[in-house]
Amino acid sequence: MTSNINKLCAPTASKPFFLSTLLQVALCRYNVTHLVVTPALHEVPGQTVCPHCQQSVITNTEHTAGLMTWAVCGGLALFGCFLCCCIPFCVEACQDVEHRCPSCQKVIYVYKRL
Ligand SMILES: [Zn+2]
Repeated sequence: MTSNINKLCAPTASKPFFLSTLLQVALCRYNVTHLVVTPALHEVPGQTVCPHCQQSVITNTEHTAGLMTWAVCGGLALFGCFLCCCIPFCVEACQDVEHRCPSCQKVIYVYKRL
């Protein structure tokens, strides 16, 4: 594959130089690009490839306070529910979801509700 790309990139008599340069930029850039396609992670644990340890894992999820949590809290406080404004911090549906790798414990993705 690499030798084919090198052949295509090399200027020849049949290919003008500018075209060969364009091919070189397009093909050689494509050759070094590493594209990692992961399925969308939402509220529940999902299977993905960890970008840190390169293993195929099912993520561990943890709910953390995010923008949505603070927005609902602020909204409740504005309407005078000062006692209720702590509720979003206890309701998982109002919080962001942090996906962690079970083997290296690093954060893979944070699903934000807002
Ligand atoms: Zn990992």
